[in-house]
This record gives sequence, structure tokens and C-alpha cells, in this order.
Amino acid sequence: MKLYFIISIFSLVGACSTTKYTTKLENIKNDILVNDSTIVTSYANTITANELKTHLYQFASKDFEGREVGELGQKKAVNFLKEYYIEQEIKPGVNDTSYFQYIPKTYLPKEIKASENVIAYIEGSEKPEELIVVSAHLDHIGIKKEEIYYGADDNASGTVAIMEIAQAFKAAKAKGQHPKRSIVFLHFTAEEVGLQGSKYYVENPVFKLDNTIANLNIDMIGRVDEAHKDHPNYIYIIGADRISKELNYVSEAVNKKFYNLNFDYKYNEEDDPNRYYYRSDHYNFAKKNIPVIFYFNGVHDDYHAPTDTPEKINFELLEKRTRLIFSTAWYLANQDHKLIKE
Ligand SMILES: [Zn+2]
Repeated sequence: MKLYFIISIFSLVGACSTTKYTTKLENIKNDILVNDSTIVTSYANTITANELKTHLYQFASKDFEGREVGELGQKKAVNFLKEYYIEQEIKPGVNDTSYFQYIPKTYLPKEIKASENVIAYIEGSEKPEELIVVSAHLDHIGIKKEEIYYGADDNASGTVAIMEIAQAFKAAKAKGQHPKRSIVFLHFTAEEVGLQGSKYYVENPVFKLDNTIANLNIDMIGRVDEAHKDHPNYIYIIGADRISKELNYVSEAVNKKFYNLNFDYKYNEEDDPNRYYYRSDHYNFAKKNIPVIFYFNGVHDDYHAPTDTPEKINFELLEKRTRLIFSTAWYLANQDHKLIKE
């Protein structure tokens, strides 16, 4: 009797939350279906393989010396991003005055010099205090034994994806189609030395974490791993359903409507021995109970090797994956309610 009583309470709670959740999902479903899809696709289509390629060949060039945190190459990389945002007329994110969030040497592991995150910002029209953070780390591992580690996939691919996503949102804003919520473009430093840039950000947030609706984090999206070499139309999706099932729903609905990539959830398993969920910058947001998606192509022979070079990037696929992430951010920024955390 007691046991049954407990069970019935549980099933009652379960039933209530399911109903509420389904109703919300129906609303979103309608939003996504009813929303004029020509608008989002017209801006998504400004993201092109050619522009991604141009940016990536610069960002993963010799000149940037593998972008080791605190070193000359990394400083060149952050200035490159700053110049880009100035040229695109996209505002600085740090108190409206600076693109750099400085991280002191004392915060970072021993031997590592002071460094900076790069933050740019497009203000929302209706709920400017609420925001979507689109992020990717900009640093890599530098020069070792006189060899440059170019990090074309890790993570020039994510970096240039953000540059193009920012440009697409800016193009929308220029035509009066502002996102309702604000979008923050966050390039983290010091990921390769233990996710330090994102850890610093969540401990010293520039925008309130309570108002941060979601973090879409991109780390390696330009290549195809061994498991998908015959079917390269894929992306690994990690973490999307852990804090907000609704986020996972939006992510899938946008993909089904526009892109039809195969979402591989292998690395989203709780018992995944690789523990990728804990291994890139989104995890510092997840720890603060902010819904996250980690976009990832999996590892390959060139992972953390000097052979991770630009000519191995699949730019058509990078374009498609970047458009997917832009469109997902678009719906999250424009939907009528905040994501439900359950
Ligand atoms: Zn990485």
C-alpha cells in the first residue's frame, strides 16, 4: 500500500510535468513551422564556404604561430578578431568599450602569461537583457620542437564559424530584423590549458548568468572522423538534453526543418568513456545550470598534431554546420519564452 502510494504520487507528478512540457513543445513547434522560414534562411545563406575558408586560412596560418595562450601568436589572433568586429561594426562586449576581457597571469596555471577572452555583442530589440552565448576557444598549443600546431580544426573551425554567425546576425539587424534577445560572441582563451578562459568568464561574468538563456559552444566542426567517413553529413551533439529538454527539441526541430544533418548522440551518453561533455568550454556554463550544446566532429589522426592544417577542412560541411548553429541561435533568440529548464 505504501509503495503504491509513493508510485501514484510519482506518476501524478510525472503526468503533470509531461503535459506542461508537451504544451510548450507544441507552441515551439508552431513557432518554428509558422515563423517565416525565408527570413532565417536568407541570413543563414550569407554564411558561405568561401568566406569561412578565407578566414580559416588566415586564422590557422603560420603567422599566428599556433596561438599558444599568452604568446605572440595568440595576441595576433585576438587582435585579428577585434579588427574583424570593428570592421563589421559589431559592438564590443565588455562594458561597451573593449573587446577584451583580461585574465591576469595570477589566475592562470604556472608559466602561462596573461591572456584575454574576446567578446562582441549584438543587442536584442525586445529582451536585450536576455542573451544567447555563442562560443569557441581561440587558443591552441603553439610551437613545439620547432613545429607549428596550426589547429585548423581545433579550433579555427569554431572561431570562423562564430565570425560568420556574427556577420549573419549583423546583416539581419541592418535590415531591421534584430534578434529579440541579445547575442554574445565569445572567443575563449586558455581552453587548451584546462578550460581557464571560460572558467574565468563564469566567475567574472560580463553579462548576468541568470539571464544567459543558453550557450552554444563550438569546438572542432571542420572535419569528418573515421566513423563517418562514408556518411559525412553528421555532427556530434553533446549535452543538449541535460539541462533543458526544450533546448534539445529546438535543436532537432531546426535541423529537421532546414539541414537534415545526422545528429550523432554517441558522446552524449552519461557513461561515455571519453567524457567529452566535461572537456570543452560549455561545461563551465553547464556547471552554472545554463543549458548548453557542444557541437563537435569527433577526433581524427591530426588531433593535437602539427598536421591539423587548413587544406584538410571540409568547407562545404563547415558551412552547413555553421548555418545550423546560426539558425538554432536565431530561434532561441526569437522564441517568445525563456527555455524551460527540465
Ligand atoms: Zn579544442
